[in-house]
Amino acid sequence: MSRLRFSVDRQSTRSKARAGRFTTLHGEVQTPVFMPVGTQATVKGQTVESLKAAGSRVLLANTYHLLLRPGPEVFRKFGGIHRFMNWDGPVLTDSGGFQIFSLSADRAMEEAGAHFRSYVDGTLHLLSPESSIAMQRAIGSDIMMVLDQCIPSTAPLAQAEAAMELTHRWARRSLDARGDSPQALFGIVQGACHPELRRRSAEFLTTLPFDGLAIGGLAVGETHAQRYEFTDLVTNHLPSDRPRYLMGVGTPIDILEAVHSGVDMFDCIIPSQLAQRGTAFTSHGKLHCRRAVYKFSEQPLDAACRCQACRDYSRAYVHHLIKADETLGFHLLTIHNLTFYHRMMAEIRASILRDDFEAYYTQQRPLLARTDDDNPSVHPAKAKPVTLPRRGDYEIVTGPGGHSSIRQISSGEVMHSVSRPSDEANALYVEQSRLSARLLTATAAGDPLVIWDVGLGAASNAMAAISCFAQAVKTHGEAALRPVRIISFECDLDPLFLATKKSARFPHLQHAAPHALLGEGHWSHGSGLLSWELHQGDFLKRFGSAPPPDLIYYDPFSAKTDSGLWTSTVFAGIRAHCAPKPAELFTYSAATAVRVALLTAGFHVAEGVGTGPKASTTVAFTRAPDAAWVPRLLGDAWLGRWRRSHSKYPSDLPETGRAAFERLIEAHPQFAKG
Ligand SMILES: [Zn+2]
Repeated sequence: MSRLRFSVDRQSTRSKARAGRFTTLHGEVQTPVFMPVGTQATVKGQTVESLKAAGSRVLLANTYHLLLRPGPEVFRKFGGIHRFMNWDGPVLTDSGGFQIFSLSADRAMEEAGAHFRSYVDGTLHLLSPESSIAMQRAIGSDIMMVLDQCIPSTAPLAQAEAAMELTHRWARRSLDARGDSPQALFGIVQGACHPELRRRSAEFLTTLPFDGLAIGGLAVGETHAQRYEFTDLVTNHLPSDRPRYLMGVGTPIDILEAVHSGVDMFDCIIPSQLAQRGTAFTSHGKLHCRRAVYKFSEQPLDAACRCQACRDYSRAYVHHLIKADETLGFHLLTIHNLTFYHRMMAEIRASILRDDFEAYYTQQRPLLARTDDDNPSVHPAKAKPVTLPRRGDYEIVTGPGGHSSIRQISSGEVMHSVSRPSDEANALYVEQSRLSARLLTATAAGDPLVIWDVGLGAASNAMAAISCFAQAVKTHGEAALRPVRIISFECDLDPLFLATKKSARFPHLQHAAPHALLGEGHWSHGSGLLSWELHQGDFLKRFGSAPPPDLIYYDPFSAKTDSGLWTSTVFAGIRAHCAPKPAELFTYSAATAVRVALLTAGFHVAEGVGTGPKASTTVAFTRAPDAAWVPRLLGDAWLGRWRRSHSKYPSDLPETGRAAFERLIEAHPQFAKG
């Protein structure tokens, strides 16, 4: 019945671990097996040759991404993914469900499937059990996965049960859609962290003619202990005559534990993801190649490893490549990490065949949990403040309109979350500050227009200003223009490094300026009339030494994430620094707390334009603004709302200061005007 003809070579006597094998349309696979993730029909930075040399046997490809690009027609033209990417080994495709549920903000769920919008071209798609199988058939994978509804592993019982029932109905439809295709198909056990649901799901799927069964919905929010517990629980309810696949898990220690629980197949992006951060798995624990301690090291990454990186290069060289952000560093570390994973799987299999896994498990468990044993960080608390790039805390996300933005992982905050970054930069900062008109009003002294760009981020605002300037040069000629000096303040350049690497997704960065800014800290327009400089570090410490601005584009993370930048004291300091000339501040926030802080700092505050779904933003003036702005100054209506507001006082204001604070707001000259 099974298309894979799975058989168990050896079952451990003192563990649920087992060594097995199955046959695919592209050859035999021995288990336990680790499958590198080749999201876009490529394991990032690797050739087919380097993958084979590392020991890769089965690759995983992502249906969701391949459906959107290059699309099924390309796979049909090539007769499948194997010829397309020149890989003659087995390929497993996921169903695309995980990406829809985790990546796509713009989707609608129903019984039929999930409607979603392409991040590539904005077109609408339906991912249903049938369309997922149709795409996987076009890709021509050896093993297909059913479409399942992915929910957080911490979901409550009712939600988890509904998702599980839907997944079961979709499982039947997927089998029907597979028809007589020779491709194998796996069902997916769901049920979040509810033992009873997991048992029911495993037992139900076992009754259907799947070629293997997967454990889904783990590594999405639960603790390590729960992950191990539920893996172990599910395998108790899975048949022994079909392969078991734990999806998206995990670290070497996760894999060791899951093999112990009887799992045969694994995939995870960790080997390449950690390579990107400069981390190597070694027989002495994890090695963080960015650390300065490796700057002069002539040793290989791991003396016990025979991979190309360890054979031919030193730690010092890899350290240098990673620091210089060279792709070869990422390539070599990925080779090494994949080699580490595959070697570990081979050792595991050998130990099971000797019926010695228990000893291997006991010996390896503490070793795999170690970190950088060769050069342990002795006093982590005394380590220098982190000035290392932390690209790890930022990721690229796709917004509702299909545009890309940068998200800070720790806070969840998205830069320019509501609209295309360059659109928001134009509307809110460049146009609202009437930059193109200001470029034509040169002063007698010829002093430059100074723009503070607070919170460089992915340079959307600075590049919008530069683009406005370039347009003015074309339209009016250099002689007509006032010089411009843009000063960007930023403590963390990771978002810009990240975005410039993916400039296909950030068209405003397809320009020499951001690269020069990152490399040299400054850039000048060919006319010599515009300079852009980077003031790196804490804005609060840096702005005092910067020339006073005419315009301030105030775009740091929100008060929730970066409360220190939104206080009345800070705004008062900025206003005092601007004192020699009038200045205008533009910010995306329309929060009462922000406006109140600006008012008490002495600014005049007006309604700014809305962008996207944001109805309003804020403009603030160090001196009473000219007549053009007066109609938009906050007036009695706002004051009335403020008096009734539950959050009318700054959070750091002592109760005894409230009366004085109220008087300060009520007596502000902008309200006195009536
Ligand atoms: Zn190596």
